[in-house]
Amino acid sequence: MAQRKKVIAGNWKMHKSPEESKEFVEGLLSKLLDKESVGVILCVPFTSLFHISELLKDEPVGFGAQNMHWEEQGAYTGEISPVMLNSTGCEYVTLGHSERRQYYNETDETVGKKVHSALEHNLKPIVCIGESLEQREADKVEEVLSRQLSGGLGDLSEDQMSEVIVAYEPVWAIGTGVNATPEQAVEAHKFIRTWLDENIASGVGQSTTVLYGGSMKPANAETLLTNDDIDGGLIGGASLKVDSFVELVSIAKNIS
Ligand code: PEP
Repeated sequence: MAQRKKVIAGNWKMHKSPEESKEFVEGLLSKLLDKESVGVILCVPFTSLFHISELLKDEPVGFGAQNMHWEEQGAYTGEISPVMLNSTGCEYVTLGHSERRQYYNETDETVGKKVHSALEHNLKPIVCIGESLEQREADKVEEVLSRQLSGGLGDLSEDQMSEVIVAYEPVWAIGTGVNATPEQAVEAHKFIRTWLDENIASGVGQSTTVLYGGSMKPANAETLLTNDDIDGGLIGGASLKVDSFVELVSIAKNIS
């Protein structure tokens, strides 16, 4: 079985000014004792990327954006291109977050275009997928995940897939305080791994980092992260305070 490192990734959403972002990173760096055994990533607002890149330049803490356009430039008012992200020195970009699918018309097709473009520009996509409550109640979890996986990742090579992180984020668990049970999360993660084996290449299911996202916090992280299939968390609310974020990293570290 492939040895995958646990990863704790923060998704700040539309929170923190550049100054607040710098303050967070300074606090994080002063409290993160072991910075190597767990992958730590911060996905921040565009306006904070340059500010934190200075602080993180020699640190093993990755950072990224929360969206991008697939084109390098053009008449796309309000958009940010992969080349622009490259100029900030960031390494990651979350794509297909359910809030973008829900409020900004993100489709499986646009997620797929963005994933290709990110990879062409040496950005590692964190591709978010997950079902709504209605879809879960209608027993459509696997159908929804398959569709989102095909649209976002379907035509990637094994090599390209090695740069991708998948985040399983059931929509009903995001920002609600109700997390998926470990059983529900493990079932979805196993499904994702099998899909990757069958649709990308055998073995990719085990080599891919698959995170869980949805109301993960220090109080519930251990029961989720102790499962081998759950490689870490994409964390919204609990990533906004240094203490809770550092606590999540140390829980992941103790399990690693
Ligand atoms: C998220 O934004 O991806 C997320 C999982 O949010 P929260 O942790 O607040 O549910």
